[in-house]
Amino acid sequence: MNPWDELADGKFRRRYETLDQNIGLIVGADETIVIDTRSHHVHADELRDDIARLTKAPVTTVINTHMHWDHSFGNARFPDCRIVGHVRCRSRLIGDGERMRTSTIAQLPENCHEPLRDVEIVPPDTTFEESMTLTLDDRQIRLAFFGRGHTDNDVAVVVDGILFAGDLIEQGAPPAFGDSYPREWPATLEQLLQEAASVWVPGHGNVVDRQFVLTQRNELSEVARLIEQRQATNEDTFPTGPYSGAVLEQAWERRTAT
Ligand SMILES: [Zn+2]
Repeated sequence: MNPWDELADGKFRRRYETLDQNIGLIVGADETIVIDTRSHHVHADELRDDIARLTKAPVTTVINTHMHWDHSFGNARFPDCRIVGHVRCRSRLIGDGERMRTSTIAQLPENCHEPLRDVEIVPPDTTFEESMTLTLDDRQIRLAFFGRGHTDNDVAVVVDGILFAGDLIEQGAPPAFGDSYPREWPATLEQLLQEAASVWVPGHGNVVDRQFVLTQRNELSEVARLIEQRQATNEDTFPTGPYSGAVLEQAWERRTAT
């Protein structure tokens, strides 16, 4: 079985066991666009080999869905490519990339440390604030920022009814709130849901449908409501919510993030 899952003609995703992560690929006649570059050079080299086994069309463009290390720390292994991302993906990687490296190393087992230490952090060189359109053969590929959510620089990639959502949507695990804007995230998903997509590719986990995204929007709305309620009542803890207490506490920590 081809490990690249062809979602539509020339549009693929590959699901990597590490972090249960999805990488997107849009293959044209003479060039290929890759969506996210994995966590470090070892993973990025594996990705490059996996792409080379699928197509002869070289990667010319990298898209980073957001600044997180597991989506951008492989960028250096695509040296001749244009790297596209949100303007704050660039500024965060320049300003906070080293801090993200240090805190990630502190959270991961020892055998992950060396490749992460070796990463050359390369931010996007082509940025936008609201939206941008790329053309590949006769296809229009739309990149858009829908508002703050998982981070302040999440972008979605929309092509032929497929929407690569990065970590704005998460399948198989709760949404990650560590750098999030929990009170704005529901409205961002509301905007995302305006897109006429039938296949939604989260940053991690299974490909999902619109109903899944609606459910996640509702769960995030409930988290936002619980935050408002806790602020109003000065309670020390949350009542039962859509996610575990530890996850809700992470969202709470980010309630005043600016
Ligand atoms: Zn992320």
